[in-house]
Amino acid sequence: MVELPAEPLALYVHWPWCVRKCPYCDFNSHAAPAAIPERDYIAALLADLDDSLTLCESRRPLTSIFFGGGTPSLMTPEGFHLLMQGIRERVATADDCEITIEANPGTIDTANLPAYVHAGVNRISIGVQSFTDASLRKLGRIHSAQQAVDAVKLAVRVCGNVNLDLMFALPGQTVETLQSDLDTAFSLGVQHMSCYELTIEEGTAFAKALPDGLPDEDLVYDMNDIVHEKLRAAGFVHYEVSGYAAPGHFCRHNLTYWTFGDYLGIGAGAHGKISTRSGVLRTQRSARPATYISEALNCRLAAQTRRVPPEQLPFEFMLNAPRLIEGVSADLWQRRTGLDMGALEPALSELKAQGLLVDDPSRIEPTDKGRLFLSDIQAAFLP
Ligand code: SF4
Repeated sequence: MVELPAEPLALYVHWPWCVRKCPYCDFNSHAAPAAIPERDYIAALLADLDDSLTLCESRRPLTSIFFGGGTPSLMTPEGFHLLMQGIRERVATADDCEITIEANPGTIDTANLPAYVHAGVNRISIGVQSFTDASLRKLGRIHSAQQAVDAVKLAVRVCGNVNLDLMFALPGQTVETLQSDLDTAFSLGVQHMSCYELTIEEGTAFAKALPDGLPDEDLVYDMNDIVHEKLRAAGFVHYEVSGYAAPGHFCRHNLTYWTFGDYLGIGAGAHGKISTRSGVLRTQRSARPATYISEALNCRLAAQTRRVPPEQLPFEFMLNAPRLIEGVSADLWQRRTGLDMGALEPALSELKAQGLLVDDPSRIEPTDKGRLFLSDIQAAFLP
């Protein structure tokens, strides 16, 4: 099922600014200053990439690049071109490298989107969240439903390989408006959809003042069913907890995370993970853009690398692998960590006995019940 090279190497590039902060968002995103220091930030990203590449013992080509945020579609076409050029000068990209940019419908136009594609982007991920104006207002989004439709149409026209993020369980949302959001999405011809339940995250404006009209538990349950059923009926394959794709359009970049593959993470607050002969290394950059720029431009990133103690590998692996509907093979666990299946005991056997994992020695795969208790599966592997 998983269309991934045996040893993927992904690159995540974080863009930390948005037009303004949405009240539900706990990402490392900041309201943009009047003048974004784009040149300095791009210089910092490339210095960060130089530093991160020193951790890679084998210079294999990148299998995917993902520009996430924040709102990377705030980058000027010139800046994006420079950044892509800088990346290509430093590291080879596979012929079929998947290159995704996240875009907010309120920041897309007929100038920037085609320019990103011209510079190499071959997948556009649009944060639509809803096609209902009332929901968009409650979510504090900067765009209207019509702008969202226009943005997706433009992305489909200039790129043809488009993901659409949609949220449900929104304040004031009904089954009818959710169904209408899904129908609109299907009518636009996208190849991938990520559908997330709105959750109230600590530290967000919504956590401080809950929005009115949040659906109750029963309604959320029904909405979950509607999302699954309508997406399947529309021909999408459910391959990850929130991920649905037309056949052949699984997100290669996210699959690298979910299968514990290697990825470089550059940018403010970005995380990376690299396998080396001395073990698995993790990198984490400072979250504040100004601090990050200063550290990257003054060669102070090396201290932000740590080795993962081997006893933590089961938990780190299980943070993502059970999110895949078909799970992963036992062989993948061994390849990615160098450990045998015995290192997952006794938690593995206990979870099988509880009916949360499939009882198959060749796979690590959640059961239908297990998918409802993913955090319990993950917690069972805490050291
Ligand atoms: S646009 Fe996206 S990243 Fe930016 S604040 Fe809103 S949800 Fe967060």
